[in-house]
Amino acid sequence: MRLSVLIPIFNELELLPELFDRLDSVLEKLEFEYEIICVDDGSNDNSLKFLLEQANRDPRIKVVSFSRNFGKEAALTAAMDYASGDAVIPLDADLQHPPELISRLVEEWQQGHDVVHARRASRAGENAVKRLSAVCFYKIFNLLSETKLPQGAGDFCLLSRRAADVVRQLPERDRFMKGLFAWPGFNSTMVEYESVKRTAGSSRFSFWTLWNFAISGVTSFSSIPIRVGTYIGLLISFVSILYGLYIVLRTVIHGIDVPGYASLMAVILFLGGVQLFFLGILGEYLGRIFKEVKGRPCYVVAQATGFDEDIENSDDPLGAQAKE
Ligand code: UDP
Ligand code: MG
Repeated sequence: MRLSVLIPIFNELELLPELFDRLDSVLEKLEFEYEIICVDDGSNDNSLKFLLEQANRDPRIKVVSFSRNFGKEAALTAAMDYASGDAVIPLDADLQHPPELISRLVEEWQQGHDVVHARRASRAGENAVKRLSAVCFYKIFNLLSETKLPQGAGDFCLLSRRAADVVRQLPERDRFMKGLFAWPGFNSTMVEYESVKRTAGSSRFSFWTLWNFAISGVTSFSSIPIRVGTYIGLLISFVSILYGLYIVLRTVIHGIDVPGYASLMAVILFLGGVQLFFLGILGEYLGRIFKEVKGRPCYVVAQATGFDEDIENSDDPLGAQAKE
């Protein structure tokens, strides 16, 4: 049995030495073979150089480097494409996903669970706005999507080989990995950990990136937002018919009544707003369809180090994703 630890890395040089120390000591204790697949997501500090040195030192450390920054979801996708273990464990490089938890994830896997989510027990150390928006995101996501995300579950988890294969075979290009990890189902469980503050650097995601990421997450897993437009439209039409009848009757009984500027403006503005809002939602889905139809690959590989020769010598920059 073999474990694959998958690490997306974007400018984490400061934290990498501690990460490898801790990973080594955790993984040595487990009685499994293992590989560590590091995906360098176009870092412009010396992360890649450091990773290549590690790969030289230890053949179990493998490095895939991208031709530019493609984002964390792409990095995780690539890591899954290159992983060959019987269980895969995606893990952030910034030590906010404590490597020590791996042994508990593995324990649950050995007891027959295919998917083991690691869940932050609390979000201490994050500001109130981020905490509140995270809670709202999980609530809204779970309300709208058939795939449920455990509140606080990030993309730190363990997937058995069969669950990982299912995720790999999902053809979508816009990959909301948290959701995809929960999608296969099977026998899943959860372990909790205390959240840890980033000790160096800061989150690579601004509030605005997270907001867009949240929209993309919801729209990849639910089409209910479009349907809401239908219902609101129906409701407004129904109310309008009643109101129209009322105005006609009133005119017949009381004669013509000219004033009405305020109510007219209010109705026009309100309906304009509602229409634009739902046009925006439609556009959101249209944009996603556009992206899928173009079918561009999720990432481009500049170099793969530490793998079998045929993978390394392949001069196909689309790498493992093009193989199947
Ligand atoms: N990351 C990446 N590509 C990016 C941004 C981030 O590979 O474009 C990696 C980053 O190096 C880290 C992980 O994704 O290993 C999580 O990033 P971060 O800690 O900034 O996110 P947060 O913890 O705030 O969600
Ligand atoms: Mg982090």
